Amino acid sequence: MERLLYSLRMRASRGGYHQSGAEKVVTADEVASVAAALMARAMNSSGPQPDAVHCSLECLEPASIRHAVLPDIATFLVSDWRAGRSLASRLLVRAGVSDRAVRRGMGLLAGGAGPDGSVMRGAVVMHAQSGERLEGDASRGIRVSRMDLDSEARPAIEALLTVAGLGHHRVIEALVLAAKVLNAPGIVAELCWSDDPDYVIGYVADPYYGYQRINGLKEQGDPLGGRVFFVNSDRVLDPLLEYLERQPVLFTALGRINPAKDWCDADE
Ligand code: AMP
Repeated sequence: MERLLYSLRMRASRGGYHQSGAEKVVTADEVASVAAALMARAMNSSGPQPDAVHCSLECLEPASIRHAVLPDIATFLVSDWRAGRSLASRLLVRAGVSDRAVRRGMGLLAGGAGPDGSVMRGAVVMHAQSGERLEGDASRGIRVSRMDLDSEARPAIEALLTVAGLGHHRVIEALVLAAKVLNAPGIVAELCWSDDPDYVIGYVADPYYGYQRINGLKEQGDPLGGRVFFVNSDRVLDPLLEYLERQPVLFTALGRINPAKDWCDADE
């Protein structure tokens, strides 16, 4: 008999503002332990404790599940967050995002893309040429869900990432999220840095060069961050939403892991 899989989601907030979240795909046997681990993560994350944590579970239709491969990984080492943002801008432009859209996307993450400069629960969707914001609800944004490592492939993938110094759940979850985004209709590139004040690493992802980590995209202590998905048309929003929020995708293999390399403005 086919083994059933469940989408398990966690979202923590305080005073109505997003604090942390997670998206997993688990077997029935894993539900209790993974839900407990996500609850513990929500309660123990840096900053004030949440006043609400929601966990939800939903069985996935087996025939709807797709399988895919993770993107290649590159790591750039920069001297500080300004150099990091300058590099991120270059990588976005190389992927096909206009200067104007890059400036707008960066500005939104730097100033808080939600209402009144708050952190959004999900991502901004932005036209890669005009820089127009397309996601509708600027508080929720678009939440990528129903994706994870395939459970049979997980041990080997995690072992290889750990050897490369990339085994932390934060890195793996961001890689999986970016991988799903890169397979989405109309995607040109993604920009991300965390809203966790202690986590300054971020990334640019694009379908050709893959997942490109940058070791500093914001100042230590900065509580703002988020994600911007740059798309090539405003007509792509409905299929994009359907795919990113509803389509289950499991990743069965790693791409290439490139060694970390120093980057300074004089490079390229
Ligand atoms: P994190 O990488 O978990 O620190 O998240 C950084 C920001 O990315 C959050 O503040 C959200 O704005 C956004 N984000 C987090 N998870 C998702 C998701 N599943 N889908 C879309 N955006 C997300």
